[in-house]
Amino acid sequence: MSARTLTMTDQLHQYLLSVSAPMTEPMQRLREETAEMTSGGMQISAEQGQFMKVLIKLIGAKKCLEIGVFTGYSSLCVAQALPEEGHIYALDVSEEFTSVARRYWEEAGVAHKITLTLAPGTETLEKLLSEGHAGTFDFVFIDADKHGYDSYYEAGLKLARPGGLIGIDNTLWSGRVADPDDQDEQTRIIRLLNAKIHEDARVDAAVVPIGDGLTLCVKK
Ligand code: CA
Repeated sequence: MSARTLTMTDQLHQYLLSVSAPMTEPMQRLREETAEMTSGGMQISAEQGQFMKVLIKLIGAKKCLEIGVFTGYSSLCVAQALPEEGHIYALDVSEEFTSVARRYWEEAGVAHKITLTLAPGTETLEKLLSEGHAGTFDFVFIDADKHGYDSYYEAGLKLARPGGLIGIDNTLWSGRVADPDDQDEQTRIIRLLNAKIHEDARVDAAVVPIGDGLTLCVKK
């Protein structure tokens, strides 16, 4: 029974949440407001948010980068786990979604820890590199358009410090990556990146079956 990950039934998931995802009132309301939106499924799971909080504490992260903010739940979790002087550079393209995020960051009292830039991700990443941020980030979280995933990973590797952590979301892609008949473009992009990371000597990596699959890479 312990040789593989448990099948997560609804009942077990409810239990998991009841013992491992402590939630403040703004977090709860943000989750509910996002769930009602048509793209609500893009929100990371509550247990993943909690897991990321623990990771941030574990590595003593102070400087974080988030590529893909959506309505801000993951950045809210990370910001809450950061020390007072910690900071997140948050990148997105959507004014609509991030206006929800900003509202809850304010409400939760973490807005001062987050700098949001609305522009194409690759543009902002190039800018960060040219401004001397290479090798300085403790944690990079990639959860944006799948077409950009490979370039976000490469830029994330440049921006992370040695020993820094890069988290990549949706790497199990609802299980579609394991289906050889699924040749959808996004599925193929994620599958290629998974294979690349598996053989990438620049990192030590693990694919964690939480939420939609979270790959964790420690930069050597
Ligand atoms: Ca995601």
